[in-house]
Amino acid sequence: MLVSSHQFNTQNNPVLQTQVAIVGGGLAGLTCALQLEKAGIAYCLIEASSQLGGRVQTTIHTDGFLLDHGFQAFNTAYEEAKQWLDFDALELQSFYPGAVIRYNGTFNKVGDPQRDKGMYLFALYSPIGSFKDKMLTLSLKNKLKDMSEKKIYSLPEESTLTFLQRFGFSQKYIDTFFRPFYGGVFLEDALSTSVRKFAYTFKTFSNGTVCLPKNGMHAIIDQLASHLNQNNIILNQALIDLSPPSSSSTQLTPRILTLSSGQQIEAQHVVLAMSLPQVASLLGQPCPVRYNTTWTLYFSCKDKPPLSVREPLLVLNAEGSGIVQHLCFLSEVSGSYAPNGGNLCSVTLKPLSALENLTESEAVIQTKANLKQWFGSVTDRWQFIQGFQIYQAIPSETVLFGEHQATTVETVSAWQQQWQIDLANDAMDSASINGAIRAGRVVAGRLIKNVKK
Ligand SMILES: Cc1cc2nc3c(=O)[nH]c(=O)nc-3n(C[C@H](O)[C@H](O)[C@H](O)COP(=O)(O)OP(=O)(O)OC[C@H]3O[C@@H](n4cnc5c(N)ncnc54)[C@H](O)[C@@H]3O)c2cc1C
Repeated sequence: MLVSSHQFNTQNNPVLQTQVAIVGGGLAGLTCALQLEKAGIAYCLIEASSQLGGRVQTTIHTDGFLLDHGFQAFNTAYEEAKQWLDFDALELQSFYPGAVIRYNGTFNKVGDPQRDKGMYLFALYSPIGSFKDKMLTLSLKNKLKDMSEKKIYSLPEESTLTFLQRFGFSQKYIDTFFRPFYGGVFLEDALSTSVRKFAYTFKTFSNGTVCLPKNGMHAIIDQLASHLNQNNIILNQALIDLSPPSSSSTQLTPRILTLSSGQQIEAQHVVLAMSLPQVASLLGQPCPVRYNTTWTLYFSCKDKPPLSVREPLLVLNAEGSGIVQHLCFLSEVSGSYAPNGGNLCSVTLKPLSALENLTESEAVIQTKANLKQWFGSVTDRWQFIQGFQIYQAIPSETVLFGEHQATTVETVSAWQQQWQIDLANDAMDSASINGAIRAGRVVAGRLIKNVKK
């Protein structure tokens, strides 16, 4: 007999039984759990680490700074997220719809004149992009504004760079705007990422507001988790073994999951809501997609940020030199990121592949040298707090986007069939908060149809 969700408890129970075992407590796993909970289906959520959230984490530093693990931001145009999150309760704090671009030794503000009327004049005289580039940007914005996701997902595959060149943008504009900005979004600045992903994110940026929850990115996780029955969540235990499926394709036999503590769970259905490399490693298979890396360093300072960047916006490096990809004074976006009126600067470095052999202290020295060149000796007083190197930050390709999309779809479908499992993670969708949430929802929806209550 299956235990009801409220009786789920890991003590004195040699083999726990449930209908659905969800392995992985990131956004995809949490959303899947939430939907099953709403449908009254018994589940347990197994998370290897001590905290839910997966790649969305915020550390509260001993000095009170909020340190997200890597630079991340939320977007109010995330349609799927809208259905699961109470945006008001997150107290979203907006970024300015534009950026400051460091180019040729100066800081140049660029913005969307359709949102910030003051930008019409700036845009006209800005050295970032010719008049034609600016007109093309507006035209692209209008083209993508109402394009359905389905249509975006079926755009002919090509790299973002090839698309931008073909669309008519000048190489200078690509190098001073698209490369530093989308390099930070894709976590690769060759712009080899699929045009589908580019179109999807361009549309999302145009239609929504980029923001941070007032109390850090992990507030998103806390909100989702607060709707779950805590008795159904097992932390600090990794799935280490999964019994093979029955050889009969007609008969669904329960699966036995063995956790790192030795605890066993019998489940009718298994959802692996781990990242794709983690799934591949569990199944002993090579991962069909590459992942991009990132490295963010945090600095605090008592002085107000330099005037040229004292706004809630991203500062992009278009100098063609230096270790910095972009920086942002997060305390300008949300005061909660820095205590007692202090200031917190997040600096994201160029893609890690170029910095592989650098130690953290070498990276800090080079970053400070880069910042001093930009802002002068005031940066001598900026103090390094902590760094986050993330080796598998986001998939460079997913089931929906990427040159090798067909092979990826084939591989993950074969895994699901062969192992009789469901996969829910951002690689199944759009490698974003929205995509991970949707991946969890889609799998839960499928299960709800199949699971007998
Ligand atoms: C630095 C960075 C910046 C980003 N920036 C943005 C952004 O600005 N905007 C945006 O929309 N998205 C951004 N993303 C992407 C977004 O955060 C991810 O797409 C999303 O969090 C992925 O969620 P997930 O549930 O698919 O996977 P994960 O969050 O990776 O969750 C998988 C979970 O499975 C657990 N697990 C793994 N193996 C086991 C096991 N054997 N047993 C039990 N548990 C296991 C892991 O511990 C983890 O908690 C960024 C990501 C990173 C890392």
